[in-house]
Amino acid sequence: MSSQPGYVTLPILTVLAAIGYLYYTTVFVVIGEWLGIATAAGLANAAAFTALAAASLVTYAMAVFTDPGRVPASFVPDVEDPDSPIHEIKRKGGDLRYCQKCSHYKPPRAHHCRVCKRCVLRMDHHCIWINNCVGHENYKIFLVFVFYAVIACIYSMVLLLGSASQNLQKDQQPSGDSSRTSIIVCGVLLCPLTLALTILLGWHIYLILQNKTTIEYHEGVRAMWLAEKVGNVYRHPYNLGVYENLVSVLGPNIFCWVCPISKNIGSGLRFRTSYDIPLSTPPL
Ligand SMILES: [Zn+2]
Ligand SMILES: [Zn+2]
Repeated sequence: MSSQPGYVTLPILTVLAAIGYLYYTTVFVVIGEWLGIATAAGLANAAAFTALAAASLVTYAMAVFTDPGRVPASFVPDVEDPDSPIHEIKRKGGDLRYCQKCSHYKPPRAHHCRVCKRCVLRMDHHCIWINNCVGHENYKIFLVFVFYAVIACIYSMVLLLGSASQNLQKDQQPSGDSSRTSIIVCGVLLCPLTLALTILLGWHIYLILQNKTTIEYHEGVRAMWLAEKVGNVYRHPYNLGVYENLVSVLGPNIFCWVCPISKNIGSGLRFRTSYDIPLSTPPL
């Protein structure tokens, strides 16, 4: 089926076309007409923007083609192990998490994706723009892509505004109707794109600070409501504190938080919970 991950779909072609169009217009029309591509300033900006566009394109391709994480056939939940995901099992009402559709046990935080037709480790959401699930193995890559894309969009916007203000000051129009049209289309595309990507990045930073996935955010809202009804307080079990949460998603090396490398983030089969950390006061 063409909607299965790994296939090039219409949304993927749309993203590639948008990257191509914005890159061409920013470098060859905006920089070209404003600073001149052959000047030192023009060349420096073109080189910097090319590097950002390349980083966006590479991380985008990685997000599309990286498997979000499968449940190994050998996976058996170990309820006797003190490190086991017993807390989540308890939270789910004492039952082991079993996927009826895949006929196997699910590790904590894994969910069945109806589009991918399988269970995905630490599933966040299924993204049509990458025709792939965002899960344990590609969550960081997905975030790094959004991060580079936001920076590239803001950079392109700054160049566009710079060139527009210079045109206004000098009271001159960009040479030729086609250039003017390209610049206007570029601006019309950039505004909603920058806004949407910035909101997406902000939302995921908010989630990472609490070590939640998008699915867990929605589950948590419900769990909090249910807990409040019986006078309890719901605590997200994977919230280890801001720094530990950042490390568990972005890796232990702070200088590599924006690198598209997702090493040292564990197997995705078990996760530390706040119950594993010795606390001065017992958890609620
Ligand atoms: Zn499943
Ligand atoms: Zn999926």
